[in-house]
Amino acid sequence: MTHGLAWLQVHVFATRELLTWFERVRSANSFREANELFVRVACGELLDQVLSGIPMSQSEFARLRDFGLVREETTARQDADIFTIVACGNTPEHRHRLAQFIVDSDGEPFDAVEIDEAERQIRSHLRSYVKHRIAPRAHEWHLADSLIPMDIIAELGSLGVFGVSIPEIHGGMGSGKVAMCVATEELSRGFLGIGSLGTRSEIAAELILHAGTSAQKERYLPAIASGRLLTTAVFTEPESGSDLASISTSARRHGDSYRITGSKTWITHAARADLMILLARTNREIHGYGGLSLFLIEKPRGDDIQPFPARGMTGSEIGVLGYRGMKEYELTFDGFETPLDSLLGDREGAGFKQLMHTFESARIQTAARAVGVTQAALDTALKYARERIQFGKSIIEFPRVADKIVHMAIDAQLGRLLTQGAAHRKDSLHRCDLEAGAAKLFAARAAWSAADNAVQIHGGNGYSLAFEVSRLLCDARILNIFEGAAEIQAQIIARRLLSG
Ligand SMILES: Cc1cc2nc3c(=O)[nH]c(=O)nc-3n(C[C@H](O)[C@H](O)[C@H](O)COP(=O)(O)OP(=O)(O)OC[C@H]3O[C@@H](n4cnc5c(N)ncnc54)[C@H](O)[C@@H]3O)c2cc1C
Repeated sequence: MTHGLAWLQVHVFATRELLTWFERVRSANSFREANELFVRVACGELLDQVLSGIPMSQSEFARLRDFGLVREETTARQDADIFTIVACGNTPEHRHRLAQFIVDSDGEPFDAVEIDEAERQIRSHLRSYVKHRIAPRAHEWHLADSLIPMDIIAELGSLGVFGVSIPEIHGGMGSGKVAMCVATEELSRGFLGIGSLGTRSEIAAELILHAGTSAQKERYLPAIASGRLLTTAVFTEPESGSDLASISTSARRHGDSYRITGSKTWITHAARADLMILLARTNREIHGYGGLSLFLIEKPRGDDIQPFPARGMTGSEIGVLGYRGMKEYELTFDGFETPLDSLLGDREGAGFKQLMHTFESARIQTAARAVGVTQAALDTALKYARERIQFGKSIIEFPRVADKIVHMAIDAQLGRLLTQGAAHRKDSLHRCDLEAGAAKLFAARAAWSAADNAVQIHGGNGYSLAFEVSRLLCDARILNIFEGAAEIQAQIIARRLLSG
């Protein structure tokens, strides 16, 4: 029931963002039929799902009766407007017409979400870069399960990708979270691994900006922004994933250093990273989050022959379905030494709270990654559906195929609106944990649904490794698991709502 409440909130935010966007584009551009159809179909569907059941996953629905509301009560509260929106919104005729706009616009039928000139430039540069340098090679990297080449990382560094939201005085672009979302979506549309390189720099930079000492800011931020220093987030342990506050890896003071002992798992890009952001227990007397501290730990960059050359640290690779390009590792620390000044900030025991502070940005960034994957699924499904002929016509002409495409386009735009709405709040220094959580929850579900539908549209070819859509399916699946699994995300939103 509480998770259902969170999903209701997601629908409220989605509807609000949709209507705010529509008011803006309508006053700027007068009338555009595609925008109008989008609002009708999306509002009709969002509202219909509230009344009939919101899919939290394939098998779980949030239904109003779960809140103790009987049918007569909900019917009595529906006014004529609600009946009209549901009955006349998501109709076959509207979807059919919208599908035509989607085909004519190559998958981008709606007015853009509000971005300024600088953000528009970022989008256009990165779109062109991805088209020429990433898209042609992404599937090859995925199939070979190889690391993203270093020359690509250097190019992304010179494009400023790692420092989009790092302030200019620290060597970044100083462009804020909306720009970060725009960049992340474009990169993830080409390859999720590329869009995810920036996740680590985003988390590291947020932490250092918020809690680091002046020396740490000076030492690390310019290097992170330029892409010279690759970072990795070392939080999860074999016995503590969602319940991060219970981790047991310890950091003990010993002379002029800390000694780290314990196991970590699922650490992305660990071998090649130069700087680990590591969560460890500095006070074993305190079992919950109060005994945890964060560390900025430098390590030598590993390679294929010797992935973990540092003393006191070993690791092995975890084979994965998708999300390739950085590789995942299990790590073991056995008395690994790091200087005292690698403690983030100047106080032990603040690690969990410092980490919580980054969750808003990290979730917004992950939501933007999910929007990129959703759009990629739409791009590839649309192309295939136009080209594939069955029963003498393009399969896009069959309503069940076109409807799937319409659904993807709507989800991509709603995900974008939610994500950039949360980013706007963050940029204007408002609390946005609810909005960021809602964006992540919605966009991750949308990416999985879009990838699944895109495979369906490809028929048997969707199941072939030779087709890029098979990669999108694997990539999309992870978005509901990391940065707060969907259930945990819903739990956090519901707790916030219920605590007032
Ligand atoms: C590809 C990949 C990359 C990753 N990268 C990193 C990284 O770079 N750094 C890092 O530190 N971690 C990383 N992670 C770890 C990731 O953050 C965790 O996998 C995630 O937090 C879930 O933890 P878990 O796997 O231990 O699952 P668990 O916590 O064991 O959860 C298992 C299931 O139970 C559900 N569940 C748990 N508690 C509740 C509850 N209270 N109510 C309802 N349902 C619940 C979960 O939602 C989930 O469905 C990565 C993981 C993957 C797969």
